Amino acid sequence: MKIIDSISRMSVLIKILKKEGKSIGFVPTMGYLHEGHLSLVRTAKKHTDVVAMSIFVNPIQFDRREDLEKYPRDFKHDEGLARDAGVDIIFYPSVKDMYPDGYSTYVNVEGLTDYLCGSSRPGHFKGVTTVVAKLFGIVKPDIAYFGQKDAQQAIVIKRMATDLNMDIEIKILPIIREKDGLAMSSRNINLSEPERKDAAVLFQALKKAEALVKEGERDAKKIIRQMEAMIKGKETAKIDYISIVDTKDLKPMSTVLSEALVALAVFFGKTRLIDNIIVKA
Ligand code: AMP
Repeated sequence: MKIIDSISRMSVLIKILKKEGKSIGFVPTMGYLHEGHLSLVRTAKKHTDVVAMSIFVNPIQFDRREDLEKYPRDFKHDEGLARDAGVDIIFYPSVKDMYPDGYSTYVNVEGLTDYLCGSSRPGHFKGVTTVVAKLFGIVKPDIAYFGQKDAQQAIVIKRMATDLNMDIEIKILPIIREKDGLAMSSRNINLSEPERKDAAVLFQALKKAEALVKEGERDAKKIIRQMEAMIKGKETAKIDYISIVDTKDLKPMSTVLSEALVALAVFFGKTRLIDNIIVKA
């Protein structure tokens, strides 16, 4: 496994691989790896000759300074996990290399970023699409892998790749969960013991929404109210949003017709967690 910490060295390596006719699978991450990230790597390994993973905590996608400072980092640990999972290249650039003095170009996907996390974290998606566009430009992957865990991010990136003719296939893979249903996240390490226990309610609330729809409930407000009641029952939880939206354009739905994305963001203490489920009427 190669560890490349500069953009120029990465570009040289990618040029060589392309010349050799190798297909490149790409897994962008912010590190502090867990089984969610590694599941993307394992799938990428089945599809492409070379798997590159980026580890970069992207400062411009954080809307709260404290969140950026508290974001967990452990490169040595990540290195071991990545090697074991079969990553061929870790791309680990510095902030200075990615955003040198004078940096002024941003990518913004309109419309889709007005909802869900886009409205509660201003500027977040502009930061995400900008860094992913840059990483795509450096790594030049054939296929890039993202998790359904960040459902809106996945849709926004697909839109960007299509709109900007990036000629990269975007694959979205299922959410990997802990035994109690909590979606794996690098941020989970920041939860205190009571917060970690309470956080299991997120998946329970999402499953409740799914069950209600299965039973014939179509009124989004009623479903959301029941989810709210469950989450508010946990002392450490503070709801940021619970929304039921169209799976394609992310517009809020008042009536659940055919397919809907039930998405939520909830603070446990200072840690903000997101999760979602797709329900079918
Ligand atoms: P992050 O390091 O949190 O930015 O995540 C990097 C990639 O891993 C993103 O595409 C995420 O959607 C994906 N990911 C994070 N957590 C999970 C999970 N629990 N299951 C599946 N994919 C995940």
